Amino acid sequence: MNNFSGFDAKSFVEKKTREFWREQNKIPVTTMAKNLAQSVGKFIGNGMKIVPNAVFFKRKEICLACDFYNKEAFGGTGRCMKCGCSTAKLKLPHEKCPIGKWGAELTQL
Ligand code: SF4
Repeated sequence: MNNFSGFDAKSFVEKKTREFWREQNKIPVTTMAKNLAQSVGKFIGNGMKIVPNAVFFKRKEICLACDFYNKEAFGGTGRCMKCGCSTAKLKLPHEKCPIGKWGAELTQL
């Protein structure tokens, strides 16, 4: 049981873990802008295709269980604190997790 007199230890630890990774992984705006531009370029170059829903939900499930994922970022839509990308990244076939938890899905298009 996580609750004791109204204190939710699990939520507290999760919050502190997210704050820790947020501090450890401050990503320069210039790096994020460069990554976004490259990703948009690849997206257009690949015919603006997105992954099937099954791939998106599998990727999202992995991110939701990851310490680098901040589900409160970007108005509650979520963000990877390792690369700085929004959850929209999970829809793009050429994208991959920066620490290898999931990969590109170019063959299912
Ligand atoms: S993309 Fe990778 S590092 Fe980022 S939140 Fe998802 S699983 Fe974690």
